[in-house]
Amino acid sequence: MAAAVQDNSRVNLVGMERGAMQDFFTALGEKKFRAAQVLKWIYRHGATDFAVMTDLALPLRRRLGEVATLGLPPVSGERTAADGTRKWLLAMSEGAAVETVFIPERGRGTLCISSQAGCMLNCTFCATARQGFNRNLSSAEIIAQLLIAGRRIPAPETVTNVVLMGMGEPLLNFDNVAAAVRLMVDDCSFGLSRRRVTLSTAGVAPAIVRLAEECPVSLAVSLHAPEDKLRDELVPLNRKYPIAALLEACRVYARSRAGAVTFEYVMLDGVNDSPQQAKQLARLLRGMAAKVNLIPFNPFPGIAYRRSPQTVIDAFREVLLGEGLMTITRRPRGEDIDAACGQLAGRIADRTRRAAQARLH
Ligand code: SAH
Repeated sequence: MAAAVQDNSRVNLVGMERGAMQDFFTALGEKKFRAAQVLKWIYRHGATDFAVMTDLALPLRRRLGEVATLGLPPVSGERTAADGTRKWLLAMSEGAAVETVFIPERGRGTLCISSQAGCMLNCTFCATARQGFNRNLSSAEIIAQLLIAGRRIPAPETVTNVVLMGMGEPLLNFDNVAAAVRLMVDDCSFGLSRRRVTLSTAGVAPAIVRLAEECPVSLAVSLHAPEDKLRDELVPLNRKYPIAALLEACRVYARSRAGAVTFEYVMLDGVNDSPQQAKQLARLLRGMAAKVNLIPFNPFPGIAYRRSPQTVIDAFREVLLGEGLMTITRRPRGEDIDAACGQLAGRIADRTRRAAQARLH
């Protein structure tokens, strides 16, 4: 599936990896290095039209205009929070709208992108889960989020880091996500270092091992509980890949050249935030190259969980630090525009009837 601006007779060059683009030019009777030129135009210069690609001969530019497009989804909403966080709503095809968030910080700018329209995983504390699942995003729709943000972020701010922490489970859309990530790190494209691209997963264990082999980037794992019974409840995917299997995959990942794994832990008042649970978590991660990222729970309408008090979050962190675990607390950003972790909802046509079922309860 190509981007929203769909033209079935022409191929969208946005989202196409270098290898595939080389094949495309070879099929046109052109030299392979045209791919590198066009990648630079699309991603470094933000070209939206083949006419501006002045290092391609005019006949080739005309031919590209006939057989190819540079399709980007339209932006249907844009909001800026009091703290400078920006959120865009992108209208993908088939009635799917997904959100992308830019978080400016001193010396860096983090773009949080979505990988699916909706999500299948049903984590009990996440707003995206409420709306059910529509479809995977194409590599074009994933990389388009960087292109669109790049055009709309006011200078001198820029995207220095990308996190796949928006809507969806990236490892359940492996091929399209991997293609988009390879474009992010391609020297002819955005040229981001692999360490500056972070993929967050709810724990699709076999795909974590595959990621280490095929597309290593910084890995974040949404753990949220130190034992299976509670995790089964909070992250239902745990019933398929329990903690032991998940951590084994993480150990493989950490041993590969990808380095330490970050474990995300949402702080839910009275649910997973006791000092005993902190000790249990430390025991679980002992001996692993691991970091912990505590995420204060971000509420949304109709949710029964509450954020743990700051004193409880601090105490939890102290226990982990005392056990030698590198631990930071994530500062909520963009809450006033519902752009914080777990608040992204967009607007999708649910294909799982989950939203309808949730309304019945
Ligand atoms: N599906 C992937 C990526 C999306 S979620 C994953 O599960 O990792 C990005 C992060 O936000 C995850 O750690 C997720 O558990 C967390 N999150 C979800 N809902 C939240 C909420 N309401 N408050 C705080 N964090 C939340």
